[in-house]
Amino acid sequence: DTALVWFRRDLRADDHAALHRALTRHRRVFCAFVLDTAILDALPRADRRVEFILDALRVLDADLGALAPGAGLIVRHGVARDEIPALAAALGAGALYFNRDDEPDALRRDAAVGEALLARGLQIESFKDHVVFERSEVLTGARQPYGVFTPYKNAWLKAVTPFFLSSYPIEKHAAHLAALPDGTPPAGQRVPSLGDIGFEPAGLSAALTGGSAGAQRLFAEFLDRMARYADTRDFPAIKGPSYLSTHLRFGTISIRQLAREAWRRGHGGHDDRDGPAGEGARTWLSELIWRDFYHQVLHHHPRVVERAFRPEYDRIRWAEGPDADADFEAWCQGRTGYPLVDAAMHQINETGYMHNRLRMVTASFLIKDLGIDWRRGEAYFARQLLDFDLAANNGGWQWAASSGCDAQPYFRIFNPVSQSEKFDPDGKFIKRYLPQLAKLPPKLIHAPWLAKPAELAACGVMLGRDYPAPIVRHETARMATMDRYAVVKSRE
Ligand code: FAD
Repeated sequence: DTALVWFRRDLRADDHAALHRALTRHRRVFCAFVLDTAILDALPRADRRVEFILDALRVLDADLGALAPGAGLIVRHGVARDEIPALAAALGAGALYFNRDDEPDALRRDAAVGEALLARGLQIESFKDHVVFERSEVLTGARQPYGVFTPYKNAWLKAVTPFFLSSYPIEKHAAHLAALPDGTPPAGQRVPSLGDIGFEPAGLSAALTGGSAGAQRLFAEFLDRMARYADTRDFPAIKGPSYLSTHLRFGTISIRQLAREAWRRGHGGHDDRDGPAGEGARTWLSELIWRDFYHQVLHHHPRVVERAFRPEYDRIRWAEGPDADADFEAWCQGRTGYPLVDAAMHQINETGYMHNRLRMVTASFLIKDLGIDWRRGEAYFARQLLDFDLAANNGGWQWAASSGCDAQPYFRIFNPVSQSEKFDPDGKFIKRYLPQLAKLPPKLIHAPWLAKPAELAACGVMLGRDYPAPIVRHETARMATMDRYAVVKSRE
């Protein structure tokens, strides 16, 4: 009557579907996490995500210990598809429990682990935990997956009930958490250090430490400003969004907890109350629904990982060769000469986070101003983002490329200067990441190349010395993009 719960993208000890189910069905439940070398070996040696995970594991281990004396987390470092079957055998487990992860690589890994365990007669149980509605739970009247967000969202809101948002309690069943087997390192030493697994510090911001406890702190803070979210979310210099994406990615907070609170505040828990009071909560819930939306897109159309959701967009010929490579490097390093784009790229490079408005602006700039394949930008974000999530990142990039499910039309091309004037009017965000432009007044900061050299000199700036001249002219690029995208209309 022993079960093993395998933690992956769900690093918390509360409101946890697999752990709850295991504890209610088995008398001895072990908890394990594998630092999977099949994933870790491909990462650079300094990666903030690894730091985040180790920190979250320490909190999870301590939380399990606080729930039941002697309990804790078994941490293995190796290939998950070998480690999990070996651990299950060593513990004498008759069942393996885990929460589902619908990324293609994860599905392959889980299938391999499942096969190995089924062959030995173990029972495998997987659960929905990472999203509110998964896979085919929200379909059109014709039982087809939705391809457009707004009808999906309406169907989501119609389908949701307190049942889908209620939490899976752990504490009252915690007596079934098994004491760790002999030979497990003592508390405080169970989670290896970065050095132990061959990594170096990458500089995780203090705001993102503390695992699930840190997530609860951030959420409590956000609750005070949720009502203003609709008005503040688009301005990167303002503390508007929740900054919870990394916690959602690694499951250090439960999506049900977040959606429950937003639904209660925005929709009164049952009916759709109109009026300004719940506007912020409704807008925020809508973002959480986008997350579910992109997860179901990935589930139904896994080909989006490699190709355009709309096949005709794979006819586009992207800029290639040394000039394109140089442009790509300039974009990655924040040297395009467009201050908002460059400040945003400094934000992602220095912190591992980028504001949503800026993800749209920088993605659009790479694709529609530089003519570079969205997949190159997607891969760069995937390396840099702490909150990197295949479904949301691919969805965001295909949205910007106009090739995705419910993407913006291809002829809608963000103007990086007007986006800057509109969403960072005083240049406050720009100055935070490009201190060399700190003295420029708002009228010069969005497009410094339009200023007279003497005006710039008065602010201590010389283009080409302190800050680059623009690598592309937006108006020219716009025309080139319209030509480039013309192939999506032709039939050949
Ligand atoms: P909030 O504004 O507080 O939103 C709350 C939560 O809703 C987020 O944490 C996130 O889980 C979800 N969410 C918000 N917007 C979206 C969206 N458009 N699509 C899916 N989920 C959303 N989000 C990721 O989590 N991982 C990514 O790798 C990622 N890559 C992106 C790439 C591009 C090109 C674009 C345009 C967007 C991307 N997003 C991604 C979506 C969005 O930018 C981030 O979720 C958001 O900026 C995270 O900040 P926050 O937690 O403060 O968001």
